[in-house]
Amino acid sequence: MIIYIDMDGVLANFDKRLVAPREPGKGLPPEMLQKGFFRNLEVMPGAIKAIDELESIPGIELYIATKITTKNLHSATEKYQWIEEHFPTLLKNMFITCDKALLKGDFLIDDYHKWKTFQGNFIHFNKHNSLEAWEQAVKRIRDATKK
Ligand SMILES: [Mg+2]
Repeated sequence: MIIYIDMDGVLANFDKRLVAPREPGKGLPPEMLQKGFFRNLEVMPGAIKAIDELESIPGIELYIATKITTKNLHSATEKYQWIEEHFPTLLKNMFITCDKALLKGDFLIDDYHKWKTFQGNFIHFNKHNSLEAWEQAVKRIRDATKK
């Protein structure tokens, strides 16, 4: 079973480093265009435990699926560095992609509704309550492996 996991808002606490909440239609927050922004994000609460649990389930392959902004190309390097620091077992399993709907797999865990276009099962991640969101996501995947 192939599982894709988003970074910003799922593994990494993107919102916490914004100066002000992101508003639709207002463009990209200027701070996310600066070198170091993506490198210094905090880990989302519950993410380390959840990845440990998912990695312990037999038959599961975990991958990162992340889209980067072309307005800050440091983000690509910084995302690799960030994963190497916080989730080193996933370092070689990273997809930087412009369209998550083109990925083949069983589950995508993502906070962005747009990616419900994913061809497998979409698990919407509630970034405002990540502990509960991670518990629910792990349970749903665990249940799917028992079928
Ligand atoms: Mg996201």
